[in-house]
Amino acid sequence: MNCDFCQQAGELQYRIRTQASAGWRFACPGCWQRQSQEPGYQYGGTRKANRRERDRRKRRG
Ligand SMILES: [Zn+2]
Repeated sequence: MNCDFCQQAGELQYRIRTQASAGWRFACPGCWQRQSQEPGYQYGGTRKANRRERDRRKRRG
């Protein structure tokens, strides 16, 4: 996963939208702080790279 703003790879990114862009983009925490101050900022969720998290939920019984 790469940040749409600085192109750096990261495990955590925020899905955001601003007035400058029509569609959703993904921003790393660093870029997200900047973009959150842009006009028309909207937050659309968070995505994480590690899908192994799901496996931690083990059923008992
Ligand atoms: Zn970035």
